[in-house]
Amino acid sequence: MRADRPRLDSFALTLRGPRVVFGEGVALTELARETDALGASRVLVLGSEREQRERADVLAGLGTRLVGRFTNVRRHVPRLVADAATELALNSAADCLLSIGGGSAVGTAKAVALSTGLPIVAIPTTYAGSEVTPIYGITDEATKRTGRSEVVLPKTVLLDPTLTWSLPGDLTRYSAVNALAHCVSGMFATDRSPITDALAAEGATRLARGLRSLADDGKSTAARADLTLGAYFAGTVLAHAGTSAHHAICHIVGGAFDLPHAQTHAAILPAAAAFLQERDPTAGARLATALKSATLANGLSELLARVGASARLRDIGLDATDLPHAVKLLVGDEAHHGVAGLRRDRAEQLLRQAW
Ligand code: NAD
Repeated sequence: MRADRPRLDSFALTLRGPRVVFGEGVALTELARETDALGASRVLVLGSEREQRERADVLAGLGTRLVGRFTNVRRHVPRLVADAATELALNSAADCLLSIGGGSAVGTAKAVALSTGLPIVAIPTTYAGSEVTPIYGITDEATKRTGRSEVVLPKTVLLDPTLTWSLPGDLTRYSAVNALAHCVSGMFATDRSPITDALAAEGATRLARGLRSLADDGKSTAARADLTLGAYFAGTVLAHAGTSAHHAICHIVGGAFDLPHAQTHAAILPAAAAFLQERDPTAGARLATALKSATLANGLSELLARVGASARLRDIGLDATDLPHAVKLLVGDEAHHGVAGLRRDRAEQLLRQAW
């Protein structure tokens, strides 16, 4: 039997991820067993002072395996921080890194792993999803350089929703919306496949449901479980499909005007999604269904308004007089890459929507 066009387009995919132990309480009960399984006996803990203090019960599980603590965790991993953490790992003869905290803690551990090859065990406390990706970033001066290496992919993750119960409302919202942005972006990315599409749809379903439930009941543990699993799906999508125009737009506009990272993603997401949906209506419809909405852009706008994450670009530091320059940057020129496929009139419209 022959079809006019292939029913299965060719694609190649190697799913790679850490071993993940899921469940409420696993950070308390499984840490020693999992570090032992890696053959580790000298563990350096990386996480902010607050995180290490508040999770003293979890870290106690390491017993005498704990040989050092690095607390000077900073967003986007400044080079000096990466170097200081690496030095501590070497001086304490650590044979394993344990990150406890959000994307900044695991990012610091990744920087150390990159130069030492040490294995990482990650205990995430936000919905960033970095613990399941081989992507690292280190900031030299003001420039963040990112790369991919299997060396930085954590070996083991303890994914315990109870560690996010203390995450304040604002951090919860924006962290979960960032994860949702990874699902949306990945559904239109060049390296997407039917497998990553399924992960993106499931991630969007869980993140949207978790965000809505938490808006109804700030103490809902079911919502936290949805957000935790949603973040896992989102991180896995980021790792395997990559990102698309939404992330390119946020990177260009957010970077040029020094806008706050998480809020920029939320402000741009509905408008960027509308642009992406025009280019691939089927992918957009699938995400709209996940959000229980007729269209993707409306579904996102309604969700963000419902959970109180609907700040616009004008609320977070972009002036009306900045818009023409932002449009120029998005369109690009011979010297600078703009966003692929984004023409001037569409870029103007998109930014006006987000502004
Ligand atoms: P973060 O790690 O900087 O944490 C934000 C704040 O939340 C901090 O003040 C932290 O102390 C606090 N916090 C964390 N967990 C808490 C909890 N349970 N209760 C109370 N407070 C808590 O922020 P993030 O959003 O988790 O991560 C952002 C960073 O991660 C960025 O640098 C981003 O680029 C990176 N990232 C990397 C990847 C990747 O694949 N490499 C993916 C996503 C994000």
